[in-house]
Amino acid sequence: MMNRRDWFKAAGAMGVGAAMPTALFATDAPATGGNAVVKTELKRLMLRHTWTTTMSSSAYRDTVHLQYQRDGITGYGEGAPIVRYKESSEQAKQAIDAIIDKIAAGDPWKFDKFLAEIRGLLGDHQHAAMAAVDIAICDWLGKKLGIPLYEYFGLDPADAPVTTFSIGIDTPEITRQKTREADDFPVLKVKVGLKNDEETIEAVRSVTKKPLRVDANEGWTDKEEAIRKINWLETQGVELIEQPMPAHMFEETKYVRSKVHIPVIADEACTHASLIPVLKEAYDGINVKLDKSGGVMEAYRWIKFARAMNMKVMLGCMVSSSCTVTAAAHLAALVDYPDLDGNLLIANDPYEGVKVQKGKLILPSAPGLGLKLVAS
Ligand code: MG
Repeated sequence: MMNRRDWFKAAGAMGVGAAMPTALFATDAPATGGNAVVKTELKRLMLRHTWTTTMSSSAYRDTVHLQYQRDGITGYGEGAPIVRYKESSEQAKQAIDAIIDKIAAGDPWKFDKFLAEIRGLLGDHQHAAMAAVDIAICDWLGKKLGIPLYEYFGLDPADAPVTTFSIGIDTPEITRQKTREADDFPVLKVKVGLKNDEETIEAVRSVTKKPLRVDANEGWTDKEEAIRKINWLETQGVELIEQPMPAHMFEETKYVRSKVHIPVIADEACTHASLIPVLKEAYDGINVKLDKSGGVMEAYRWIKFARAMNMKVMLGCMVSSSCTVTAAAHLAALVDYPDLDGNLLIANDPYEGVKVQKGKLILPSAPGLGLKLVAS
């Protein structure tokens, strides 16, 4: 693994070294009315490696951050926009800023009603904005109660299975390098779905024998090709396949699933809790992300709902800081496949939170999310 100093060096090479590191919310934005003070800020997260999936390729990601202050306690939240759902960080920030007085005036103790109202005001397509608000309220509640968030949910963090580290699509040489850097992780997640899938897996396999999970990000559009690839992947020690075909190709996915042996997990197809019973017909499980559900509380409902349907649960994330990833990690004891590495892909994390040791998620024991703001 690259150590932290090397990451900064890599980040410097990408050009972020030119800016002086500052902590989030360092500038005094005007306070808003109501009982709480709520601030938003955009943060550019620089990627260690250019990140390529079937959907996009980029050197950085912008996320929206929210600070919620009340009774001398500060809660932090973050929303990572999902391009697939036509979200952007600017538009997420604008959506929050447009209702910031309502967020400040809401009663965080009546958070079920309060967050439902905010969800209603933001509308159905503001997942990143909703996540930023929900995560900040969860952090604030935990701090106010003096307990880590996992304790609020009655969870033992030691129950969380090991998390995966993701290898994005790249040349075989870089793929081998990334695989070596992920040496500390007992299970890897590999992105495929382009023309060179076999080459990618072979590059990973030339470096390691560890179990793999594979995400095709809707990349295969021919069902017979998908079946052939999945069954080949199984011979390569792949444990599960995530979103092999486009979300709208439901009948084809159903057919594919009937012809393969490893679990098929819905990610892009799973955008709302109400879809879970339908998805069960074509998938063995769902990938829950705070950036899709709009925060911790709704992610918890998705997980419980999928469990009630006897489905497998993966807990994923977008490229984001330790804020979102730590918030998700507080629920990791409830799932089969934690996939929480979005913060490890960036070079200028504005927070310190959950750590990973040999794939094991180590949560801070401080109240709330347990985050520490750091200059970045
Ligand atoms: Mg995925």
